Amino acid sequence: MRLSRRVQTLPPYLFAELDRQVAAKRAAGVDVISLGVGDPDLPTPRHIVEALQEAAEDPLTHRYPSYYGLPAFRVAVADWYEQRFGVGLDPETEVLPLLGSKEGLAHLAFALIDPGDEALVPNPGYPVYASGTALAGGTSISVPLTAERGFLPDFDALSRTPSAKVMWLNYPSNPTGAVADPGLFDRAVSFASRHDVLLCHDAAYTEITFDGYVAPSVLESPGAKDVAIEFGSLSKTYNMTGWRVGYAVGNAEAIRALGTLKTNLDSGIFNAIQRAAVVAVSGPQDHVEQMRAIYQKRRDLVVSAFQEVGLPVEPPLGSIYVWLSVPQGRTSKEFAAELLEEAAVVVAPGTGYGALGEGYVRISLTVSDQRLQEAMDRIRRRLK
Ligand SMILES: *Cc1c(COP(=O)(O)O)cnc(C)c1O
Repeated sequence: MRLSRRVQTLPPYLFAELDRQVAAKRAAGVDVISLGVGDPDLPTPRHIVEALQEAAEDPLTHRYPSYYGLPAFRVAVADWYEQRFGVGLDPETEVLPLLGSKEGLAHLAFALIDPGDEALVPNPGYPVYASGTALAGGTSISVPLTAERGFLPDFDALSRTPSAKVMWLNYPSNPTGAVADPGLFDRAVSFASRHDVLLCHDAAYTEITFDGYVAPSVLESPGAKDVAIEFGSLSKTYNMTGWRVGYAVGNAEAIRALGTLKTNLDSGIFNAIQRAAVVAVSGPQDHVEQMRAIYQKRRDLVVSAFQEVGLPVEPPLGSIYVWLSVPQGRTSKEFAAELLEEAAVVVAPGTGYGALGEGYVRISLTVSDQRLQEAMDRIRRRLK
């Protein structure tokens, strides 16, 4: 068999080595606590599960869904944007349901990028922006995000790479937990207009914010719809990672291109899931408030534990992660291995998110309060 170069050159699975070490520990009977992956431990709210149960009983949902998504779901997303961000969207042309936002993040490249084209990709950042670009034959240009600049891009420096066709942003950010400063999206939209770049904002964590911080949408910026699209997901907001439902909104031409591509790749989202998604987005939102409080408490637990062992960390204002500087003299991988060895706690080495993730590990807040407390107790005892 002769595999495609595209598949052969995909980077190896980031955590393969760590997974092997964890498997060996577990086989030896060690109680390993994984703060590696970001997959909410909390269940999907009851009323959403019930909406799925009811919808699944209706044979009308058993047939092929429509390619461009259930009209009621597109309308529900548009209504939510109006209420949440004060952004008006045309449900017909500016909203596209996705099989989870990752699907759209990866496929967007096939709608914009030809072999040889360039995309501006945050470093460190969610790996899908670069892998989608690579699969489409394009090249990722790294946008350095450093602590000195609050993990925000320097648009003046970027003006020296005017050939890029796409730029990726993600705030609140995975993995850094950084949030957009008030002018960030205005600067991004102005940069995208000047350089004819499609600005793509991954908004997976806009609803998971702390200390009263409210995250903006890129579409709030004047002129954004001319140059930007935004990807949303029900995965983190409603604890629905397993359901595979999200959406893209914004620039109609980009939405149309992604939609046309998708009609050739998939046949849409199970209608029962889309009906439940309508209930999630337009139903009561009080559990989102409760979830924010739960993550905020967990964040504080992690921040104070590392503080106590002499590793101070800025408490993030959003996301489900704490991005921790590793102690002097250790690499990310060495420190992750040390936490596994000493405390049987798994964290993600920062280098999994790009070269500039060196010097950091990512700690996920998605285990129960009790397990997180146990993990932090071990770290306090063993690393002091
Ligand atoms: C979790 C996550 C998503 C959501 O992915 P889905 O495919 O919608 O589950 C998107 N972007 C980032 C940065 C994430 O961490």
